[in-house]
Amino acid sequence: MAKPADILKEVAGQVSACEKCGLHFSRKKSVPGEGPANAEIMFIGEGPGFYENEQGRPFVGAAGQFLTDLLSKINLNREQVYVTNVVKCRPPGNRDPLPDELAACSEYLDRQIEALNPRVIVTLGRFSMQHFLPMSKISDIHGQASWVRGRMVVAMYHPAAALHQPSLKPALEKDFMKLPEYIQQAARAAKPAESDEALRNPQNRGARRDADQPAAPEPPPPDEPTQLTLF
Ligand code: URA
Ligand code: SF4
Repeated sequence: MAKPADILKEVAGQVSACEKCGLHFSRKKSVPGEGPANAEIMFIGEGPGFYENEQGRPFVGAAGQFLTDLLSKINLNREQVYVTNVVKCRPPGNRDPLPDELAACSEYLDRQIEALNPRVIVTLGRFSMQHFLPMSKISDIHGQASWVRGRMVVAMYHPAAALHQPSLKPALEKDFMKLPEYIQQAARAAKPAESDEALRNPQNRGARRDADQPAAPEPPPPDEPTQLTLF
């Protein structure tokens, strides 16, 4: 099986040449996403903005600086997390991505998730949340962990929204502070399946999967988004 880093590289190559939706006409650089292939947290934003389109890198503008600041509050830096978007090319004038653009691009996101296999997925903003929880309202569920298709997903407000609407800022900061606990919770939930696999194929286990933690309940069955009320 291909290595996660190779799959991420392959996806990035396909994204850079992609013409599957109309956004390719106006893009300067596509923005596949970046971060280490063994990142525990994956942040998914909406789509590239002006600076991202110039540089081909995600979250490099004001919202990106805010994201970096939020990460530092939980002792993480950008090099430790994976950051991407639901659409990889900039919607002109930063308009919302359209349904057909989201649909066309979602294949890349799903392959990135599969390759990365992150402990926790953090969605930033409404469009990213809707990829996992189409019926939810961000004002209802922000900061809560949900299990979606066997993965822990935590919806949060978009940092750009919090910059434009300062009343959202404390909520985003508070939600971020919950992440270390969610990562631990997800690690405990993943334990039984992982140790099973480790028994069969020990050299496959990455350093971040420590095998000596006590077992914890398995996540709920796939396709049943469940809210965890940990806080
Ligand atoms: N906003 C996003 O949603 N994504 C980026 O990459 C930058 C700003
Ligand atoms: Fe392809 Fe996604 Fe860019 Fe559309 S937004 S052209 S689907 S990479």
